[in-house]
Amino acid sequence: MSIDRREFLAGTCALAAGSIFGAGRSAFAAVQKPLGDGSVTALSDGYMSFPPNFMYPAVADETLDALLARHNLPTDRMEPPCNLTLFRSGERTVLFDVGGGSQFLPTTGKLPEALDAIDLAPQDVTDIIFTHAHPDHLWGLLDDFDELFFSDANYYISEPEWQFWTDPETVNNVRDDQQGLAVGSKRRLEALADRITLFQPESEILSGIYAHDTSGHTPGHCSFELNNGTDQLLVLGDALAHPFITFEHPEWPFAQDVDAEHAIITRKRLLDFVSSRQMDLMGYHLPYPGFGRAERNDTAYRFVTK
Ligand SMILES: [Zn+2]
Repeated sequence: MSIDRREFLAGTCALAAGSIFGAGRSAFAAVQKPLGDGSVTALSDGYMSFPPNFMYPAVADETLDALLARHNLPTDRMEPPCNLTLFRSGERTVLFDVGGGSQFLPTTGKLPEALDAIDLAPQDVTDIIFTHAHPDHLWGLLDDFDELFFSDANYYISEPEWQFWTDPETVNNVRDDQQGLAVGSKRRLEALADRITLFQPESEILSGIYAHDTSGHTPGHCSFELNNGTDQLLVLGDALAHPFITFEHPEWPFAQDVDAEHAIITRKRLLDFVSSRQMDLMGYHLPYPGFGRAERNDTAYRFVTK
């Protein structure tokens, strides 16, 4: 890549980091910050685009529209960005999730360009840890020839997440509109069968990386606490997915949650946990690049970019 293009990207990142939504449109970009003696980098895989009532069908349209309008967001589309986290420390280069790949949505699957933008080759990624197995997080696993895109990495996913998506009955038990994704995720996980490490939630997976049980969105969804020196960051995955709805109304059912009731309990517990500890957060679908904190006031939580 030429220096000019790198400088252009750096400028684009600075702008993207300053805006609140629609920033996912910066298709390939990277924002890096230190974490102890290492670093974390937000890598954009692109963005998704859905009507709001597709995401929150249980919420009255007027109620949903009013909240979005109050935050100057469009009421006809939601365009959540997809922000991957790269954690580098010592010999390790750890990537959380792998993006949507080329067979999910035309607006996702930009991770290869983001890696190119930071001059990181796929074979230099030592470890890949999945928050969960939804397509926007997993389907970038295979390239167009069905080969592993990250050929040399060690792979990790929670045992309950693996059991759910590889169970032949799951495709019959999910909603009709989820069957295609269940088939696709099962096929991709099976490509990892002989090389993936399964871990239990609420355990340390690698040195300085602890898996918190944030199930509900999916049965084995985990968020990962990174500790390096005195610095700390929680990689949320989809446990807190919208910068306003999730923080103001964690009790609103989210259509993509496999277990809506359990996901609501998890969101409330997690918001209390991260706000009381003032933890730095990284959200997969929070405004690009996804870094921030949860603040609590008398009646609700608020996402603050950081
Ligand atoms: Zn997601």
